[in-house]
Amino acid sequence: MDRSLAADLHDALASARELVREWFEEGVEIFERSAGGPKASEARPARAPAGEPTRPADERPGVAAQAPLLPTPSPFGAAPTLEAVREVLGDCTRCRLAEGRTQIVFGDGNPDADLLFIGEGPGEQEDLQGVPFVGRAGELLTSMIERGLGIARSSVYICNIVKCRPPQNRTPLADEVDACRVFLDGQIDAVRPKVIVALGKPATSLLLGRDVSITRVRGTWQEYRGTPLMPTFHPAFVLRQYTTEIRRLVWEDLKAALVRARERGGRFED
Ligand code: SF4
Repeated sequence: MDRSLAADLHDALASARELVREWFEEGVEIFERSAGGPKASEARPARAPAGEPTRPADERPGVAAQAPLLPTPSPFGAAPTLEAVREVLGDCTRCRLAEGRTQIVFGDGNPDADLLFIGEGPGEQEDLQGVPFVGRAGELLTSMIERGLGIARSSVYICNIVKCRPPQNRTPLADEVDACRVFLDGQIDAVRPKVIVALGKPATSLLLGRDVSITRVRGTWQEYRGTPLMPTFHPAFVLRQYTTEIRRLVWEDLKAALVRARERGGRFED
């Protein structure tokens, strides 16, 4: 075989492998042949081959054990403030994520926000700057909020399930989520949003307490501790799969979240 053709084939195969890995990490399980992308209406839960038991989520590569985020008694009182939650959090060492962090990334935005965005954990830039969603994915999220929804980023609140960066940006483990969830619940109780947007498969799975296919649940209303929850793709995934279809789906999810928040009395700065 011609050497340059072989090199091209090798590169194409490497790209295809990388693409499949990214889809898998994001929870995409069904592919549409003609368009080359997932279609929510055709998405179905993954099934084990006949005769084989379905593997639990925590045994699958790339999927952390899921700890149900059950309602927990608040140590911050009936009407907590973000300051009170942050004060109790302190210089937290309640889980192993404290060992590798530069700093705690607590949250950012309006303490009275009617829209709350939740990711799974801080990345490299967030860890360095101490603010959630400030890297490239954060810039895209800001653009989606400000240019897409037409509201100021400062009018929403943004945080993560765990407040310290997991090593190599891996998905937080069950005991780490369990150690940190009381602070997430405290933040939600303090902000009292009209609607929560869960960003990506890990955050959605951790909030719902079960392993989800993001293509299956995105765009469908869920609930977390009595608050309507809209799952959508993570901005980092949108950056990697920057197609018109993926952006359209995220746009529809965010629009639905804004409409629902307004229907519930939410107000936003332009
Ligand atoms: S992730 Fe949460 S529980 Fe773990 S050390 Fe950081 S703040 Fe504490």
